Amino acid sequence: MSRNSFRKHLSMPGMLNEMRACFDRIPDPIKARDFSLPDCLMSGLAVFSLKMLSLLQFDTQVRGGEDPVQARNLRTLFGVGKPPSDTWMRERLDEVDPRSLRRCFTSLHAALQRGKVLEGWTVLGGHLLISVDGTGHHSSHKVRCRRCCMKNHRDGTKTYYHQALGAAIVHPDMKEVFPLAPVPIRNADGTTKNDCERNAAKRLLDDLRREHPHMKAVIVEDGLASNGPHINLLEEKDFRFILGAKPGDHDLLFNWFEASETKETWERRDRKTGTVHRFEWDNGLPLNDANFDLKVNMLKCEETDTKGKTQRFSWVTDLPLDRETVMPVMRAARRRWAIENETFQTLKARDAYRFEHNFGHGENHLADVFATLAMLAFLIDQVQQHCCQLFRKAREHQKRILYLWNRMRSLFQTFSIPDWRTFYLAMSGDMKKPELADMLPDGP
Ligand SMILES: [Zn+2]
Repeated sequence: MSRNSFRKHLSMPGMLNEMRACFDRIPDPIKARDFSLPDCLMSGLAVFSLKMLSLLQFDTQVRGGEDPVQARNLRTLFGVGKPPSDTWMRERLDEVDPRSLRRCFTSLHAALQRGKVLEGWTVLGGHLLISVDGTGHHSSHKVRCRRCCMKNHRDGTKTYYHQALGAAIVHPDMKEVFPLAPVPIRNADGTTKNDCERNAAKRLLDDLRREHPHMKAVIVEDGLASNGPHINLLEEKDFRFILGAKPGDHDLLFNWFEASETKETWERRDRKTGTVHRFEWDNGLPLNDANFDLKVNMLKCEETDTKGKTQRFSWVTDLPLDRETVMPVMRAARRRWAIENETFQTLKARDAYRFEHNFGHGENHLADVFATLAMLAFLIDQVQQHCCQLFRKAREHQKRILYLWNRMRSLFQTFSIPDWRTFYLAMSGDMKKPELADMLPDGP
């Protein structure tokens, strides 16, 4: 594949076409008189794809009659027929149930599957590794909607918040992550009891199994997940698991492990780095008193680097542990951090997706729709980073990802860009000044 051409499906134009097709299928209760729902959704996605600083900036600059260049770019690059004002965008997106956006994620994952990308992402006998964790994207004493969860404080004040349970396909040797549709943690209409991560985890596993009935996956989660009901659910849904386990939460398990006569140990020094791993493991131990019949395998790992710094980890899993598997299980377990470090932190970065920024809270779904669109834009960028030569070339040329986003924004705001290929060539430094000048919009 040439460095200057796009793959049909796993490129920005291919993925945006697919997103448009998904948006077109979402029922539009109003049958928009002024702005169509797909145009509003695509404009929302564009805000996050272009890393716009605010909705307002987008609004005044896109619609300002004096400078229609952005409106034109929104049409040619994102297929938006008529860009909505910020008020209209908020109003229309507030009606969209974020669940209806799940299809956008499954269709991109299907494209990754068809493009044979995920074949290179399996571990531990053909399983995909899925890291799951929760994060917040809204917290305020004042701004609220009817879906907000609420915390009462002793001094009588209240905090209104939204969280989401995120999940992403990760791999120990890959720096990209491929998020699945996030599950909003928020209240249903008329309920007073706050939704929580545990309920959301149930919805996430239900959705994941329904949308990917044949997927072989290992779910990796932190210590909060190593409880009986959750492990039973993972087994019921036919997922393998590796879950953090801390001594304080699992007295019986750790005592059983220490007293075990069948546990095995193995020490290994990495030839390249000099790091020493000391593994201890045993299979078929009782999880706890309340779930004595629920048997798990337990792995402990002590890692000492050449400076003598030691870290200790422990997990429970249903994967059989032996000398062949302890190393790959440990590496898979530690890739769990990718959901926190590579996903949530990148999403929250100030000059990028601005996941926690209040682009508008709405009364119903808006806060969660914006969070979902931010995650979708992030997935699209991760796919580009992994699969698209033109994107990678632009990124290499700009040196840092934030420089790339800055350049992208400024080109979008200044030049009339005919297509994505030209856009990326301009970001790659492949276009000479006169060629760029040709793309300047006509003066008054
Ligand atoms: Zn709210």
